[in-house]
Amino acid sequence: MSKKTIEDINVSGLKCLVRVDFNVPMQDGVITDLNRIEGAIPTIKYLSERGAKVILCSHMGRPKGEFNKKYTLKPVAIKLAEMLGKPVAFAEDVIGPSAEEKVASCKNGEIVLLENLRFHKEEEENEKEFCRKLASFCDVYVNDAFGTAHRAHASTAGIVQYGFVKTAVAGFLIGKEISIMGGALENPKRPFVAILGGAKVSDKIAVINNLLDKVDTVIIGGGMAYTFLAAQGYAIGNSICERDKFDLALELIKKAKDRGVKLLLPVDDIYGSEFSNNAATLSIIVSEASRIPDGWMGMDIGFNTRELFAQEIKQAKTVIWNGPMGVFEFDKFAGGTKAVAKAMAESDAITIIGGGDSASAVAQLGYGNRMTHISTGGGASLEYLEGKDLPGISCLDNK
Ligand code: AMP
Repeated sequence: MSKKTIEDINVSGLKCLVRVDFNVPMQDGVITDLNRIEGAIPTIKYLSERGAKVILCSHMGRPKGEFNKKYTLKPVAIKLAEMLGKPVAFAEDVIGPSAEEKVASCKNGEIVLLENLRFHKEEEENEKEFCRKLASFCDVYVNDAFGTAHRAHASTAGIVQYGFVKTAVAGFLIGKEISIMGGALENPKRPFVAILGGAKVSDKIAVINNLLDKVDTVIIGGGMAYTFLAAQGYAIGNSICERDKFDLALELIKKAKDRGVKLLLPVDDIYGSEFSNNAATLSIIVSEASRIPDGWMGMDIGFNTRELFAQEIKQAKTVIWNGPMGVFEFDKFAGGTKAVAKAMAESDAITIIGGGDSASAVAQLGYGNRMTHISTGGGASLEYLEGKDLPGISCLDNK
């Protein structure tokens, strides 16, 4: 379902309450990563340049429903003003007298940032009166915080769901998530390949299940591949494994077969003697039913597997990736994740990174600008890939 965005409406002279994601990492009052602020700027500039009164709101950290100086958004207001080259008025509260005064005196094109939404427990509780009060600051509601779009909180969905706002649209960040990630899921260019990795199968069951209805190939790597391999009788040594998920792994393998979806698992591994960067390493090509000797654990996909996965990526037209291929935090075991990132960066396909660890791995490897899209939400992008309705998106006006 396509949703209206800020480009579909006239915002001049209107109060636009924009839910942004300013949940930035902070150390001693200094913001240590500006990515999220940078990400919000196109929407803020667009609205301000078109004469909207831009009222920004966000959460930061987990202040548990009460004021805590450690989590004030004041440093964000200062940094944002610097980055925009124009003033940003900061309200010292969320729905109190300071917010009321700042919103009332906001002129067309001006920008106000409200204090941390989570200083009120009513935000996460999605409390009705809190929603009503927030809504009094807006003629138009704009959601541009994909990272919290899977939460039904007051500022992400409740304000619209209770019927307090007439117009609710997506900003550029959410608009891009819907058009690229949503577009790929609804109407992919084929062959469509999904690559799933990470530690556990249990975290990604719903994703694999949903994607099996949509893709041509599923590639499974990382720690969770060992549950699939062990379920089929391979010896996996001391590798990470969820024995209670064997039946489920076999069901997923059967589902793939029934649907004609190619399911690729690692054919060789790099394994280590311990879970550390100093581990002795070994790489042995799989031989039928035995794979990793006792006392060793699979830490990364092997060289043949990298080649196999890269070939599959090469002939794809759409690739979605979530979860590293190995314990990439240790240099020694980052090679498989690097190989997949490189194959994606070099491919002509639509390449989508589904947030979380794979997003940081791609950025760390310097391939960030060579992907079509890197999702801005970890949990949210997983739920999106699971095919779930995200309240922060489904509440927005349809086109
Ligand atoms: P997730 O959050 O589920 O995407 O999992 C990411 C984590 O999976 C990373 O911290 C990786 O170190 C870990 N991981 C990937 N491959 C393995 C493996 N073979 N054994 C143990 N952990 C792994």
